[in-house]
Amino acid sequence: MSTLRNFPSCTNYRTDCNCAKKEGDDIYCIGLQDTDFGDKPCPFFKTEEQVENERDHTIKILKERKRYDLIEKHYPSYCTRRYA
Ligand code: SF4
Repeated sequence: MSTLRNFPSCTNYRTDCNCAKKEGDDIYCIGLQDTDFGDKPCPFFKTEEQVENERDHTIKILKERKRYDLIEKHYPSYCTRRYA
């Protein structure tokens, strides 16, 4: 049995969203518990590229402010790559 069935359906039908997982003809959202936005599009839609760009921008700002503690706390995989 699929574990994705525990997640709500993506009401935007966006397979290019960072949170979307497709199984068969169904698309599930692994980022939200509630995907009912009425007749409006999902306000949380982001492509993987958008997420990566925002993460890189945030890390750049944190580095400028020498907040390495926050980088290590919120982006541990970045630290593993950079300091390994
Ligand atoms: S965040 Fe929105 S667009 Fe992305 S998978 Fe979830 S419901 Fe769909």
